[in-house]
Amino acid sequence: MQGPEGRTLAKESLELMERYEIAPTPENYAVFSSFAADSTPELCEAITNRINKNEPVDQRFCDALYNEYFAVAKIQDVVMASSGAMNDELLQVRESLKAAEKHTAEYGETLAGVETAFDENADPSQVQGVVQSLVAATTRMQQRSRELERKLHETSSEVVKLRTNLERVREESMTDALTGIANRKRFDEMLRKGRRSADANNEEFCLVLCDIDYFKRFNDTWGHQTGDQIIRFVAGCLTRNASEHHTVARYGGEEFAIVMPKSSLPEANAMAENIRMTVEGKRLLRKSTSEDLGNITISLGVALYKHGEAVEELIERADSNLYKSKKAGRNRVTTESGNSVRSAA
Ligand code: GH3
Ligand code: MG
Ligand code: MG
Repeated sequence: MQGPEGRTLAKESLELMERYEIAPTPENYAVFSSFAADSTPELCEAITNRINKNEPVDQRFCDALYNEYFAVAKIQDVVMASSGAMNDELLQVRESLKAAEKHTAEYGETLAGVETAFDENADPSQVQGVVQSLVAATTRMQQRSRELERKLHETSSEVVKLRTNLERVREESMTDALTGIANRKRFDEMLRKGRRSADANNEEFCLVLCDIDYFKRFNDTWGHQTGDQIIRFVAGCLTRNASEHHTVARYGGEEFAIVMPKSSLPEANAMAENIRMTVEGKRLLRKSTSEDLGNITISLGVALYKHGEAVEELIERADSNLYKSKKAGRNRVTTESGNSVRSAA
């Protein structure tokens, strides 16, 4: 976002911070520019709710938002690295705006002076002098306006660059490095979001948890690196079977989750079963040596959200169904009723 849009964003963010008497630090700026740009729905919702409830939008609240949405170690590194630059940019915007105010006031004074010079007793030569000084003042004002425009443009491009960088790092911080799918943090976020949306719109909402069978044994036999290859393979099977509005996440080491908003239990069961069959059906070769690794299997547990329950309860039920799949012999899907989706092989 460059040019006028970015400039408006920088200005709007600063105005909001001034209105709530929030110091213009890079951390606070990250929160308010995200709010002004409407780029993080949950953060926007938190601030809007706060304002609507007439609760104070103060530094403590900003710290909490920053910690929740930006303060992973990596983001902090970037914020620290860019904080000097961001501070300079913010100062420049403020100074440019202050200078503009001063120049406008000076120009106003010149115009006021002209009024008195044009009364009925004015001497024509005096009038000529006044007109000349007026032309000079107007030219100066135009130059200063252009200069201000240029400065604001430079500053806003820089601020937009810094902000884009922050957003990129935030995105990275939500992605699992081994598989490229969502990590636990994104999972938590999407689960909370799914729950809210299910409650607000009276929709169905499902969660599938899945765990690789006998993975310790696999690691012991083939080594950790080949184990990682399997984790990537399973992540790929999940992603290929899920649709765009689902969130496929690496929930833990060799455990995965699919958050399924707007989905019924039969849909979730069918997807879980498809994933199970996809994984089971693939004969695996060791990448480094092309040795035959045989097949691996996964166990899954499905749960349907009960309106009003906490996300922890939903996870707990999906996990307990996953545990039932393990107990019943693995390589199966256990659904809400506690039954297997398919009959045991
Ligand atoms: P079960 O069928 O009961 O799930 O048996 P399991 O051996 O898979 O047991 P569990 O789920 O407790 O095993 C977890 C193992 O997964 C432990 C660890 O060796 C392995 N693991 C966890 N994270 C990673 C990882 O990032 N890479 C690799 N290669 N292995 C991992
Ligand atoms: Mg496990
Ligand atoms: Mg396992």
